[in-house]
Amino acid sequence: MKHKLVKQWEILKVEGNAIKRLKKNCPRCGPGTYMAEHKDRYFCGTCHMTEWKKKE
Ligand SMILES: [Zn+2]
Repeated sequence: MKHKLVKQWEILKVEGNAIKRLKKNCPRCGPGTYMAEHKDRYFCGTCHMTEWKKKE
């Protein structure tokens, strides 16, 4: 499980800032399943999970 997470982050680093903003992997479905971005949250069409955006 730990290994999987590391791999996800490696992909984000390789793809760069653009994809980091546009595409977010669903933490439940794993890499390859992307979440739809809304104004204040992300929504996964596969498992219907909602992840609220965090303010940094
Ligand atoms: Zn999902």
